[in-house]
Amino acid sequence: MNKTDRLRMSFEFFPPKTSEGILQLKSSVDALSLFSPHFFSVTFGAGGSTRDGTIETVKMLQQRSSIPLVPHLTCVGFSRADIIYLLKIYEALGINRLVALRGDLPSKNTPEGEVHYAYDLVTLIREETGDYFQIEVAAYPEYHPQAQSTCEDIINLKKKIDAGANAAITQYFFNSDAYFYFIEECAKQQIFVPIVPGVMPIVQFNKLAHFSDLCGAEIPRWLRKRLASFGNDIESLQSFGLDVIYQLCEKLIEGGAPGLHVYTLNQAEASLALFKMFYENRLFHSTNAIFENEQPVLQNTN
Ligand code: FAD
Repeated sequence: MNKTDRLRMSFEFFPPKTSEGILQLKSSVDALSLFSPHFFSVTFGAGGSTRDGTIETVKMLQQRSSIPLVPHLTCVGFSRADIIYLLKIYEALGINRLVALRGDLPSKNTPEGEVHYAYDLVTLIREETGDYFQIEVAAYPEYHPQAQSTCEDIINLKKKIDAGANAAITQYFFNSDAYFYFIEECAKQQIFVPIVPGVMPIVQFNKLAHFSDLCGAEIPRWLRKRLASFGNDIESLQSFGLDVIYQLCEKLIEGGAPGLHVYTLNQAEASLALFKMFYENRLFHSTNAIFENEQPVLQNTN
């Protein structure tokens, strides 16, 4: 077996709100299932805005694909009873892995809830369900925007692991040094669980820039300038963006990252293009059969 075949691949989706969105999600899931990823994760709105949407999406995808489904679960704004209720639903659905998060802070009028930080949520899940769930948590190679210091932020990750988390998925970033320095800092704090880089394909500039500013992911100056220079030429922007993300993934894998978690935004095209480049450059042996036997295509499907 090639060493890259042991890499952990996963794709993230969000609960669609429209019938077109549902069709798009289904065709993306069909196409990406061909890669036999370790799991598909489904996001959860802060304060529960998509609580039902997440559960419904998980159920829909379970019917459609044999790939394990991993719901995200945020705690801010919820009572302990709310969370225990959700855990029971997921157990009944046969889900055995979760991404446990704090979520973004609610507006002033929204109640804070009883579970304040992700490590409190991990503690609650372990208290209520023992070792049943594999728990993933978030990590921030460029540090969480609300962290009091870089050191506090790594200690926060350590608390999540000590509370029982098994692995971490990072916020996306465009500079591989941020990831490798972060891994070194984690090792100094005795954090040795897999820390899987989150990868954001570049498909659009304005939204990416806006979202990156909000979540604290830095777009390096040279990259921001190049992306802005494409203007309305989306095709050239995406082709350049694909090259940038491929090179980032190559550095990450060659530098020892345990896998990749792709933020798909429910669109498979960019992930398919990226995986085709992995195949052409022989980065992952496990993708070979897929591209040699059939070209994954996106279909409008029910
Ligand atoms: P925590 O780990 O609890 O940390 C939050 C902040 O609080 C950090 O700055 C930490 O240093 C600080 N902190 C921790 N403890 C204390 C303390 N005792 N006192 C003071 N400060 C403290 N959001 C969603 O709404 N839905 C999703 O589905 C979702 N999925 C995500 C998936 C991934 C892989 C990632 C990386 C993020 C995701 N997010 C999602 C965003 C996430 O909810 C936000 O980044 C949120 O602001 C922090 O969540 P956390 O779990 O990292 O929080």
